[in-house]
Amino acid sequence: MENHNEKIYLSPPHMSGNEQVYINSAFELNWIAPLGPNVDGFEREISSYLGVNAAAAVSSGTAAIHLALQLLDVGPGDRVFCSTFTFVASANPIIYQGAEPVFIDSEPETWNMSPQALERALKEAALEGNLPKAVIVVHLYGQSAKMDEILRLCDRYDVPVIEDAAESLGSTYKGKASGTLGSFGIYSFNGNKIITTSGGGMLVSNDVDQINKARFLSTQAKDPFPYYQHSAVGFNYRMSNILAGIGRAQLQVLEDRVTARRYIFNEYVLHLSELPGITFMSELENSRSNRWLTTLLLDEKEAGISNDKLIELLTAENIEVRQVWKPLHLQPLFNGCLYYSHCENHDVAEKLFTKGLCLPSGSAMTKEQQMRVINCIGNCLQPNVYKQTRLLG
Ligand SMILES: *Cc1c(COP(=O)(O)O)cnc(C)c1O
Repeated sequence: MENHNEKIYLSPPHMSGNEQVYINSAFELNWIAPLGPNVDGFEREISSYLGVNAAAAVSSGTAAIHLALQLLDVGPGDRVFCSTFTFVASANPIIYQGAEPVFIDSEPETWNMSPQALERALKEAALEGNLPKAVIVVHLYGQSAKMDEILRLCDRYDVPVIEDAAESLGSTYKGKASGTLGSFGIYSFNGNKIITTSGGGMLVSNDVDQINKARFLSTQAKDPFPYYQHSAVGFNYRMSNILAGIGRAQLQVLEDRVTARRYIFNEYVLHLSELPGITFMSELENSRSNRWLTTLLLDEKEAGISNDKLIELLTAENIEVRQVWKPLHLQPLFNGCLYYSHCENHDVAEKLFTKGLCLPSGSAMTKEQQMRVINCIGNCLQPNVYKQTRLLG
């Protein structure tokens, strides 16, 4: 019998069953190292899936961003523009490089980087003669940012773009894979992502030389000598051959995972969008979101319940829900950093943060589990509808 109170997680790992085949082959060949046939295979297979020239498998998405900044020669005193509405990992590597982050607000349609705010920031930076060395654009929750507009602006000022596609593997923008439009794209295979290697990341680019350099930097920058000679600072960032094996099997089911998450999103919309005060994240025209997490905005006045209260009630029912990311320009860590809002006196990310919620969206979630979440949210919101109707009557 189904356990009616088992914990429902936000986005737990979902293995295909085929992972063990690749792990076993690594053991049989004794390739228990941060290199080997699974690493090469995973890089080849993901490049072909994405339609890019080259990929470097690394230990995390954060490491991939760090390498991209290193390859773009970002150093002390340089500025890097970054979406403010994101996980801290998008911006931490800017600090590792001793550079200065400048945060760019979201726009209301995609919740991602506002081209308007970016334009103001670039204009001002150009006037000051202090253009950024790179712009990090994040595609949050699987939703693509407005890349045409963003790339046009960055081209105008000749600033390279790094796409943080950690959450958008399997998403597309105008027919192209999310993360393949800028100079570099990065993906994450952390345990909560749409596919996982337990921990890992990928740096991709059409510039094969740069990806070769990334592999060199990620293995301690050993010069091609028969002994250990080094002339640059390197990192120990390569992906293990065992974890790459998990990645190869996960990549084979990526399209199924996208289908499952999109189905889950549609079910939530079907059952919850009639409730007062609920708006789901939309999908940008000509793009496909992987719907990594179903996210919605809750209007406290209309819904008759606060975000915090709803989280508390769902948590008591053993259902994991989370607030959306807290904007980075509001983090104590980034106190004093420059920030450009969507328009003068109109902060979008801050508003999203106060209203936004992420619902359980794991691709292995059963219909029964999802109905438990849906019923629970309905019960939390509907008594208030009843009260309001009575008051109005
Ligand atoms: C998960 C995530 C990262 C970091 O990836 P790791 O593999 O955990 O280092 C970066 N950016 C975003 C938006 C993420 O969600």
